[in-house]
Amino acid sequence: MVVGEIVNQTELLVIGGGPGGYVAALRAAQLGMDVTLIEEGELGGVCLQQGCIPSKTWIAAADDYERAKGLTAIGIAVEAGRVDLSGLRQFKDGVVQQLTSGVRQLLSGRGVHVVKGRAEFINATTTAVEASDGRQFYHFAQVIIATGSRARQLANLPADGERILLPKHFLALGALPHRLCVVGGGYIGIELGTAAAKLGSEVTILEYTDRLLPQTDPDLVRVVERRLRELGVVVRKGVQVESASVGEEGVALQTTPAGGGAAETLAADRVLVAVGRDANLEGLGVEKAGLAAGPVLTVDDRMRTAAPNVFAVGDVTGGPMLAHRASHQGYVAAEVAAGRTAAFLAQAIPAVVFSDPELATVGLSEADAVAQGYAVRTVQFPMRALGRSLAGRSASGVAKLVADQETGVLLGAGICAAHASDLIAEMTLALEMGATLEDVAGTIHAHPTYSEAWHESALLGLGQPLHVLK
Ligand code: NAD
Repeated sequence: MVVGEIVNQTELLVIGGGPGGYVAALRAAQLGMDVTLIEEGELGGVCLQQGCIPSKTWIAAADDYERAKGLTAIGIAVEAGRVDLSGLRQFKDGVVQQLTSGVRQLLSGRGVHVVKGRAEFINATTTAVEASDGRQFYHFAQVIIATGSRARQLANLPADGERILLPKHFLALGALPHRLCVVGGGYIGIELGTAAAKLGSEVTILEYTDRLLPQTDPDLVRVVERRLRELGVVVRKGVQVESASVGEEGVALQTTPAGGGAAETLAADRVLVAVGRDANLEGLGVEKAGLAAGPVLTVDDRMRTAAPNVFAVGDVTGGPMLAHRASHQGYVAAEVAAGRTAAFLAQAIPAVVFSDPELATVGLSEADAVAQGYAVRTVQFPMRALGRSLAGRSASGVAKLVADQETGVLLGAGICAAHASDLIAEMTLALEMGATLEDVAGTIHAHPTYSEAWHESALLGLGQPLHVLK
């Protein structure tokens, strides 16, 4: 910064326009603050532009296609469909554009000043912003860092956007790969691998550990794995990718068993790498704002970093890297910045994998509860015992509750079943409210619905099941 350069003033600067940053900006503006939001790309961040929303258009389309193929079995004749990925891409782009313009309108309607450019700290109260029309400076009283994360790359499998893809490349494909190899059996590997298989790709998932979704309750993951097999997806666990050679015809992956052993070669047209995400801190200059450089930013429950006027929210603060966690943290940071009393309490963050069936969890898993010293009561309820599941051709799956043995207070819930992504909301509220098995059992659940799984699970937990025998 040199003498004579113009410095813009703002009360609150938000860096990053993803679900953490834009929600923080909206809430702060709603509370009367003067807010400037800096975003180098498009509003909505990875979630809206390259992740949650685009992938859900693929997943919804693949589900529709798959279910349509099954209609003949229930007496409805349909013509064999044909997958046109350019049509799906158009639909996806339309959804993304509509939502992006919605976020833009909300920010402008609340009076948030949105600047397109890349921010870098000069000190704890000033940033420089590189924009297409030059460099500008912003002086602020408080700042919220919401720069998100990016897909992790593997040194021996560098993405080229053609043969070796990151999720953003995959979701922009114009044609479906005949043979797709997915490296990583986590959220993205399972979600996109399942969608590709339903649309017609031959899919192989390579997972380094000995489990898919290694952090998730195996009783739930088992259901997903069974369905992947039904869809013809080859799942190989305990596999290490050593190297890849890219040629005219595709990619040859050299793999070895993770524990050592003979090498194998696997051929694919395209490889999708989905092995986790890293916080976006490069080039931000957080050390100039008084923060220690590390893989993520450390925050307290008010979303404050070690520097008193600097907040951080979302993926840049570490995991779980979920859009709704980022938004809630953004909301809390805005409240605290505006002088209100607020805190982020993390015991009930729902997590959803858009697998088939969907898998959703909240609170403690059985293993976590036991590790934390609880004596637990756990129950599993089979979804096939519900009339709605059978009528809706969605009979596979299981609901699981984890409760404190003595008091019956709910500690966690999980479900792998149709509509699990929405069903988990009831248990999230139950956990937030400190509900017991008796509270859930005493709640009238509409019939016939999938939500009856929670009612029946609670009854099961109380030792009084109605629609299953003990
Ligand atoms: P992930 O952490 O969910 O899964 C990565 C998987 O890759 C793990 O199972 C890990 O053991 C495996 N792995 C790591 N290195 C490997 C290697 N060299 N070879 C083979 N396997 C390897 O990561 P992701 O699927 O990339 O997703 C990133 C994050 O994004 C998720 O953890 C989640 O926080 C978020 N996300 C959320 C949703 C959702 O909410 N529905 C969807 C997609 C992504």
